[in-house]
Amino acid sequence: MNIGSSIVKENSSSSNYENTISSILIKTISDGIIAVDLDWKIIYMNPAAVNLLDLSADEAIGKKLWDYIETSLPRISMQDQKMFPCKIASNGEEIECSITPTDSNIYLIAIRKNLSKPSDVERKYQRIIELSAEGIIIINPMGEIAYANPSFRSLVGYEYLKGKLFRTILSDESIYIFQEVFLEARSEKKQITNIEIELLHRNREIIPVELSLSPFIEDEKFSYMICSLHDLRDRKKLEEELRKSEKLKTEFMNIAAHELKSPITPVKGYLELIISDEEASERIKNWAKISLRNAERLLLLINDILDIARLESDTMRFNMKQISIANLLKEIVEDVKQSIEDKQLDFIVEIPEDLPSIIGDPDRLSQVFKNLITNAIKFTDRGSITLSAKKNKNNIEIYVRDTGIGIPKGELNNIFKKFYQVDMKEKRIAEGTGLGLYICKEIVEKHNGSIHVESSPGEGSTFIITLPTSIISS
Ligand code: ADP
Repeated sequence: MNIGSSIVKENSSSSNYENTISSILIKTISDGIIAVDLDWKIIYMNPAAVNLLDLSADEAIGKKLWDYIETSLPRISMQDQKMFPCKIASNGEEIECSITPTDSNIYLIAIRKNLSKPSDVERKYQRIIELSAEGIIIINPMGEIAYANPSFRSLVGYEYLKGKLFRTILSDESIYIFQEVFLEARSEKKQITNIEIELLHRNREIIPVELSLSPFIEDEKFSYMICSLHDLRDRKKLEEELRKSEKLKTEFMNIAAHELKSPITPVKGYLELIISDEEASERIKNWAKISLRNAERLLLLINDILDIARLESDTMRFNMKQISIANLLKEIVEDVKQSIEDKQLDFIVEIPEDLPSIIGDPDRLSQVFKNLITNAIKFTDRGSITLSAKKNKNNIEIYVRDTGIGIPKGELNNIFKKFYQVDMKEKRIAEGTGLGLYICKEIVEKHNGSIHVESSPGEGSTFIITLPTSIISS
C-alpha cells in the first residue's frame, strides 16, 4: 500500500509532484511512520519504523499497534493529536510517539528514539555518581555549581546547590588555591589530583577535603570542570591522635631512660670510691670491682633495650649533619685502643685522609663502630684488629676485621637478628645480649647504608659497612 498517495489528494500536476516527494520522504526519513486504521490495526510501516521496532513489515500488517508499542498513558483516543512517551514492547526501549489524524480515517504514528533521555550506560554512570561516598560536583565556566551529588550536598549541608558559586562554600584561604588549580587544569587541559582545601559547611564548620579536578573539553573548548572531593575529617583526626600518641611514646622513652639509668650512676660512683679507697681491704676492693663491672653491664643492657624500644617505636632521634668520616674514625681509634692493647692484640688502622664527608648522626655512627670493635675484641684472643676504610664512587666502605673465632656460615644472617647469639658450646659463655648487631643494622639502615659480614670459623670475621657519601661532599 502506498500511504503517501492515500493521504495526499491527487488533483493537480503539482500534487503529483508532491505525491512523489512525500512517498520518497516517508521511505527515507529517520523517523518511523506507522499508519493505523480506526481499530489501531497497522496498515503501513515505513522502513525506519520496521527498523526501530525490529520486525518485518509483513509480520506487523493487520496486527494491533499496541502489540508492538507500550504506553503507560490510558489508551489514546483517536481525537487526540499529541506526543506521548512509549516503549518498544519487545525490548523496553523508550521512544517518543506522535499521533496525527488524517481526513481519511487513517492515523499516522511517528515514532523516534527519545534522544533527550539518557542511555542505559549514562543512567548507570548517573547511578554510580548518585551513590558515590565521594562528593562529586560539576562546575561551569562561571564557577557555578551545575550539579552536586547527594554526598557533596550532605558534606556541606545544602539541599540545593545548583547555580551557587563554588567559592562561596570555600574557606577564605582555599578560594585562592582553588582558583589557581581551576585555572591550571582548565588552561592546560589536565587533571589535577589531591589538593587539600577547606569547605565551609552551612553551619560554618570548616571541612578539610582532598580535591581532584578534571576539565571536560568539548570540540577543543572547555565546557565544565568535574570535581571529586574526599572528606578528610577522619584522616585528620587519626593523624592528630597518632601525633599525640607519638609524643606520649617519646615522653615515656625519655622518662624510662632517665628512671632506669639514674639509680646506677650513684651505685657506680660509690663502687669507684671503694676501689680507690686506701683504707678498704683488697677483698672488699675485689668485690667492688666485680660489682662495678656488673653495674656497667647493666647500664649497657638498659641502653640497648632503650635503643630497641626507640627504634621500634620510631622515636629514636637522629641528629643528621655533614660529618667527616675520617675524623670520626680517628676519634674512635683513640677511644678503643686501650682495650685492644689490654688484650695484647695488634691494632691496624688504615683510614685514607681524603675520605669524602657523609650525612649522618656522629654519635649513632660512633655507637655502631664501637660496637663492632668491642665485639671484635671480645671474640679475638690473638692476632689483630683492623679498622680501615675505602672510598667508592658514591659510597664509603668501612671494615672492622679481626683474627678471632669467626662465625659459622649458617649463622652469618642470624647474627643481625634481635637477641641472637651464636651457640659457643663449652668454648665460652658469651657476654652480651645479642642486641648489639641488630641495633647497628637498624642505625646503618637509617643512614641509607648497609652492613654485612664475611667470616670463616677459626680465621676471623670482617664486618663491612657501606654508607652513601653526601651530595655536597668535597
Ligand atoms: P652480643 O651482645 O652478644 O655481642 P651482638 O648482636 O653484638 O650481641 O652479636 C651477636 C652475636 O654475633 C654474638 O653473640 C656472637 O655470637 C656473634 N658475633 C658478633 N661479632 C662477632 C665477631 N667479631 N666474631 C665472632 N662472632 C661474633
